[in-house]
Amino acid sequence: MPLGVTWAILSLLAVALQLLGPCGAPAADSSAEFDLVVHGGRVIDPESGLDGVRDIGVRDGRIALIAERRLAGRKILDASGLIVAPGFIDLHSHAMQLMGARVQAHDGVTTALELEGGVLPVAGFYDRMAAQGWPINYGASASWALARMAEVRGVPPERLVGGGIASLSGFADHGPGSRELLERVRRRLERALDDGALGIGVLLGCAPKTGRQEFADVNRWAAARGVPTFTHVRFHAQLEPQNAFEAFQETLAVATATGGHLHLCHVNSAAGRLAPLVLADIAKAQAQGLRVTVEAYPYGAGSTAIGAAFFRGDELARSGLKKEDFTRDGKALTAEEFDRLQREAPGTRIIAHFLRPDTDPQDRAILDGSILFPGGAIASDAVSWQVDGRVTHADTWPLPENALAHPRSAGTFSRFLRVYVRERQAIGLRDALAKTSLIPARILEGSVPQMRRKGRIAPDMDADLVVFDLATIADRATYEKPAQTSTGIRHVIVAGVPLIEDGTLDPTSRPGRPVRRTPAP
Ligand SMILES: [Zn+2]
Repeated sequence: MPLGVTWAILSLLAVALQLLGPCGAPAADSSAEFDLVVHGGRVIDPESGLDGVRDIGVRDGRIALIAERRLAGRKILDASGLIVAPGFIDLHSHAMQLMGARVQAHDGVTTALELEGGVLPVAGFYDRMAAQGWPINYGASASWALARMAEVRGVPPERLVGGGIASLSGFADHGPGSRELLERVRRRLERALDDGALGIGVLLGCAPKTGRQEFADVNRWAAARGVPTFTHVRFHAQLEPQNAFEAFQETLAVATATGGHLHLCHVNSAAGRLAPLVLADIAKAQAQGLRVTVEAYPYGAGSTAIGAAFFRGDELARSGLKKEDFTRDGKALTAEEFDRLQREAPGTRIIAHFLRPDTDPQDRAILDGSILFPGGAIASDAVSWQVDGRVTHADTWPLPENALAHPRSAGTFSRFLRVYVRERQAIGLRDALAKTSLIPARILEGSVPQMRRKGRIAPDMDADLVVFDLATIADRATYEKPAQTSTGIRHVIVAGVPLIEDGTLDPTSRPGRPVRRTPAP
């Protein structure tokens, strides 16, 4: 049946149901046309500009009808007095564990993608996630780092991921590769793209000595396949040469030369205090038609392994950081502890305070520039949760009190809305919701057609929705006590199925679907 006719019939049915429906408080109706109705919330769609009280009728995982009248559904979620927004889309999550996905759902995230680090093999990743069942939508890029490590070490990539992408020891010392090595890396990445990977993740900052030609090559391969790369830039240092400015210049040069789409990860942490300079160049590059996109998270500290290349030797001083700017388990490290951990346990996860936005107004303005950059996405860079020093993949819920991660793993999106929209009114609500949903969808939709149905509230879009109270939405996770989910998120709906209802997550609910390019036959 043509779509128009279907819609006409559906609309008539909706009117009929409305006329026959109950007039008092909404009640579930087992004979109703919609699987689910989100009733009476202030619906905001950043694409069309819709901002009004509506009922949303959901059927078969999609938004079927948006109406100013009361709709009848087999299940009703009351959204009166609350905001109804497209579910948040996180382009940058390393928390590919059940616990991590559930914590992110409490932050309003309905789709979390591992794009910067990537995975390998890609088909195995999607098979595993589907077999296990996932709370929120998931997807990943092909991992350049894993392809390269697998080739250099001669071990299959699936044996490399145990320690987490940030603790890939030995990777930091990789130098320029031979043509033959690059050809083998290319074949692994091409295969991963055939398997439906969302692009190529390039953790260049973790292997800064690899060749410039290789980085350009990886981007050429991606451009030839019409997919983006997701880059953690080569250098973090604040002093020239080989600093963050140069690192971003490299990406702009490659974008110019290849015509490809480069997505630049966490500009806030990657550029540090050079962010204003770097972002001004990016804005000019975009104005000239270069396909460069950015993301940022609303914290002044990053989380990574203490042995990372950009903290080793002279690089530490050049990074503008002192050993005392690092914390572990909420406590500042002494210089001695820093040296010992870097030497004996380089995979130890630490928090690096590269900006002090809470105490330094200049730092705050720098962070604001990254967060509010026009067209930039909010993305968490969520790290996975560790319990007793280990990343856990157990089906444990609720989040154990002693679980550890960077607070951004729990609070990125609610913190952005609390601080920038409610408290400081630095950005309007609709523009803010574009940054959490529509913009990330648009960043991907050129190469991932599925994303055209996400990040919007309109008929036929995926029913990924977040319902929250703007007056109370808040992050609670802190550097000292990260294991605290956000508050104010009332309902979270993934593919038309409630995952969080009245603030409580159902651990048996696993409606998440894969976000994937079509695998080659
Ligand atoms: Zn990164």
